[in-house]
Amino acid sequence: DTGEVILIDTGPDLRLQALREGFTRVDAVLYTHTHADHLHGIDDLRGFCQINRQQIPLYTYKEAVSHIESKFGYTLRPPGQFWGFPVLSITEVDAPFELFGTKITPIPVMHGNIQIFAYRIGNIAYMTDVSAIPESSFELLEDLDLLLIDCLRTEKHPTHINIEQSIDYVGQIKAKQSVLIHMTHELEYETLSQQLPEKVEVGYDGMKFQIK
Ligand SMILES: [Zn+2]
Ligand SMILES: [Zn+2]
Repeated sequence: DTGEVILIDTGPDLRLQALREGFTRVDAVLYTHTHADHLHGIDDLRGFCQINRQQIPLYTYKEAVSHIESKFGYTLRPPGQFWGFPVLSITEVDAPFELFGTKITPIPVMHGNIQIFAYRIGNIAYMTDVSAIPESSFELLEDLDLLLIDCLRTEKHPTHINIEQSIDYVGQIKAKQSVLIHMTHELEYETLSQQLPEKVEVGYDGMKFQIK
């Protein structure tokens, strides 16, 4: 562990999450897609740039790069004397790359009719906002220690998998441990927990994992 922090997405409550968890640095951000609930905390990266005097690199797919450049262009700037704005750089990725000695694999998944990224970081995969996993992406999900996977609600939804589909994918992917994420308020922790097969848990804010 070299202490670097890799963040996946910048939700609108990033600042509160950082205060809650007490993290004071962000060394890279992987964006799954650019919907507001995953992107609009981007301005809060400013605090990390400022206290660490560090430019933060962002990684995502081509269309997401264009979106961030057009909507949040003011955040993309080289490091200089002024740290009052976020100081970010952005890189388009479409293949595995390395960050701080760990292999990062972008995994294409469908989110309704757009293709977005899940990410594999070492043997952990984070897959939010998914409605379907393309056949070709399954080989990128083999031998996982931990899978975090979308599970929106009980009813079907056009852009997210529901409980039944989520459990079905968990069974196909066969990670050692799986955690359901991105639930709506309609799902209650205890009730949902009791419906799940072994080695599948309901995620919650502040949940922590130790992975070798
Ligand atoms: Zn979304
Ligand atoms: Zn979302």
